[in-house]
Amino acid sequence: MAYVRAAVVREPGGPFAIESLSMRGPEPGEVRVRIMAAGICHADLIARDQMYPVPLPAVLGHEGAGIVEECGSGVQALAPGDHVVLGFAYCGRCASCLQGFPGTCEHTAALNFGSERPAAEQPLSDSAGTISSSFFGQSSFAEYAIVAEHLAVRVPRDIPFELLAPLGCGVMTGAGTVFHVLDPRPGSSIAVFGAGAVGCAAIMAAVIAGCTTIIAVDVNPRRLEIARECGATDVLLATDDVASAIRDITGERGVDAGLDATGIAAVFPVLLQSLAVRGHAALVGAPPPGDLAHIDLNPLLGRGVRISTVLEGDAQPQVFIPELARLLASGRLPVDRIVSTFPFERINEAVAAACSGSAVKAVLRVANRPA
Ligand SMILES: [Zn+2]
Ligand SMILES: [Zn+2]
Repeated sequence: MAYVRAAVVREPGGPFAIESLSMRGPEPGEVRVRIMAAGICHADLIARDQMYPVPLPAVLGHEGAGIVEECGSGVQALAPGDHVVLGFAYCGRCASCLQGFPGTCEHTAALNFGSERPAAEQPLSDSAGTISSSFFGQSSFAEYAIVAEHLAVRVPRDIPFELLAPLGCGVMTGAGTVFHVLDPRPGSSIAVFGAGAVGCAAIMAAVIAGCTTIIAVDVNPRRLEIARECGATDVLLATDDVASAIRDITGERGVDAGLDATGIAAVFPVLLQSLAVRGHAALVGAPPPGDLAHIDLNPLLGRGVRISTVLEGDAQPQVFIPELARLLASGRLPVDRIVSTFPFERINEAVAAACSGSAVKAVLRVANRPA
């Protein structure tokens, strides 16, 4: 057992408190990763608030990046010293995983929200017992994480960890939805609702894909400025007539593709109204359970639109994260435009900045240099 500092949530909606906890070593097939940077993502906050039933107390965090320090027996793909980005958890054995779609793993809920791993196997504990510490298979709001070998993706050593960390969820989700699901044609148009980290990553991907009209929609003018820096050609402050504004921009056609990253149920119908004939809409942001959207189905049928729901960008992280890292290193994926860094100790300040929208992607610097 070793002691590590970790940010613990002990009550629903409660603050993150940095505590010293005991950590077991890696079991067969697991690695111990020194976390260098960890992004804060919406799912951390809804788990804190118990919209996802992660047993408390818990260590959250699911955008970790760091350095492999120790490998359990049988680990073959990684070695100490490897720089890694940690992705979401998946089983690797169900039909969806075997078809290359681990984002829709049949065991997603149990594996990512930490209820599948028996309490005795949770990596972290305190004097009162075990702490939920396999959130998304990683719980990266901590100095170290114990993760299954297949969830840690080796990346080049010359990329800053604070830019790598968001590749594990937010950037993978936004860029993956564009590349893998919407797959826009060069010269086509796309609308992105919600200019947070997922939306901005989608905008960056739309630029790479060759979209020539990229419309960002948000309630926050500052975020729309950042969306422009990421490559949006047009920005719209969210108002009642967004659909007609999009029709104006596209010469009354509507957009060929659209992505809703807002998590607000009333937004998706507006996106559908904004689509061109045979347009494709992707729902990425999760509204609270029970929130209903009112959709007039008849006009949709006549226009041949497609609707997709997408988890984690429909990506296989071992394939997609290295691709994103290469785009990042080449300067074509300007993640630096959306990242604001905070010291680990100021995690509550970082969370407040993420909630207020003043930080598009808040990233914690968990360590400054390798131990
Ligand atoms: Zn699976
Ligand atoms: Zn996430």
